[in-house]
Amino acid sequence: MHGGPPCRQGAEATRAHAPGAPPHPDRLHHAKGRDHLSYRTADDKGSLVVELLPWDPPEYEPVWKAAARSSHRELVLRYRLHTVPPGIPTWFIAREHRFTRDLHWRTGVLLEHPDRAHVALLTMDRLTKTVELRVRGPYPQDFFAVLKDGFEETLERYPGLGIDRLVPCPLTASDGTSCPHEFRHEQLVSRIGLIPPRELIECPIHIADLDVRQLLQGIEPPDQQRSERLAQSVAAIVLRQTEQMSLQAQQTKQFNRDVLERLDEIKIKQDAIAAEQQRTFLASLRLQQSWQAVQCPSVVTMEHVRRRAGGLLGSVVRLHLYCEAPGQWHHLPDAVPYEVKLTPETAATVLPYAQKILSVLKYVVPVAGASIGIASEDLAKHLKGAVETMEALVAGLPEELADRGTLDGIRSMIRTASGAEFRAMHQLLSTLDPKQIWGGLTKVPTPEGHVYWLCTIHADQYRGLPGELPQR
Ligand SMILES: [Zn+2]
Ligand SMILES: [Zn+2]
Repeated sequence: MHGGPPCRQGAEATRAHAPGAPPHPDRLHHAKGRDHLSYRTADDKGSLVVELLPWDPPEYEPVWKAAARSSHRELVLRYRLHTVPPGIPTWFIAREHRFTRDLHWRTGVLLEHPDRAHVALLTMDRLTKTVELRVRGPYPQDFFAVLKDGFEETLERYPGLGIDRLVPCPLTASDGTSCPHEFRHEQLVSRIGLIPPRELIECPIHIADLDVRQLLQGIEPPDQQRSERLAQSVAAIVLRQTEQMSLQAQQTKQFNRDVLERLDEIKIKQDAIAAEQQRTFLASLRLQQSWQAVQCPSVVTMEHVRRRAGGLLGSVVRLHLYCEAPGQWHHLPDAVPYEVKLTPETAATVLPYAQKILSVLKYVVPVAGASIGIASEDLAKHLKGAVETMEALVAGLPEELADRGTLDGIRSMIRTASGAEFRAMHQLLSTLDPKQIWGGLTKVPTPEGHVYWLCTIHADQYRGLPGELPQR
């Protein structure tokens, strides 16, 4: 269907060709005998030879300007390169082609998120050897993180390349021009890492103190507590707006368009927050893990099926795997769940993990719906059920195990953010599924270097994309 046998010439050893990886169709290949990178577009109608892109930018400004609304935010990060290798920024343009709006040129690209509310602009100034990544939208953090990872992956192709990462001063002069001062990203990060942290930094042009955390907000991933608070507050707003809308509809027999539009924008924001939360959660689990090291899916929900009169221990818990598509987590209706009898050991693995998953699962928005062949209501109902049963399971946790004198151990495990509970869970899953069927989930590399376990439909969205670009 995707035509042509997989390209094996040259250094085409992509991560997707690793043993056990999904077949990688021939979408990205070098034109024979030349050093061009040709990238066939998703609709198979044409191909993008990135080294042959026009030098003159197309009309991208109207789209970019339209994304600058008062309710939108903008994130900016600059990369100053000591030398500019030939694949910058063209390899990035190929890598992120799934977000294309056909607005790309030799030194820049405008990209759009599938939600159509978030727009990104990456441009390179050849004179100053500076690449600038900017993202605008109601909640640009998630799209920004994806593209930043994509660009960092591109830079990794050039070991030893001197790079300064810079955060421009967000203040503006009275005439509206932006401040020319730039803060070094690594210095901002190390200030926050100090004990106690140095939270203020002066802009020498404005002679004003700026909040370092604010400067880094959106550029660095949020901590889990912040992201939970955000998800919680936006969920409350959505609920309030929805109630207001249905009340209005009852009274006037029609929907108010303003309220509808507001609700749409808040829902887009909610989806972006959920996507960021899920992506950050999986990234923290897989910190520094290579393709090979990610051995099994990580999003698992627990259902308490057979209770024993005596309490948790001895009862049976069913484990359900989830598809890990960022922002679209969902259960697998056809997968057979694993059953685990709770012993002191399995309980010490399953229950703290349930707590961990719950902190993200609570804010999952069932958005995948029709696109994956499950009705949105079913998705929502299943999710609600999963959250409720897990809350009940976790609620019973301390007293249950207190009787057996293991309370302190369990409590401290819940509190620590170490990878210990993940490793224990992965070990348990491996014994439950020795053949590694994983409910039909496939391990998929993304062009940004992330690894997700996905259902067939979500895996298809990444098929043929450069999981890892060939090394020159
Ligand atoms: Zn300034
Ligand atoms: Zn899926």
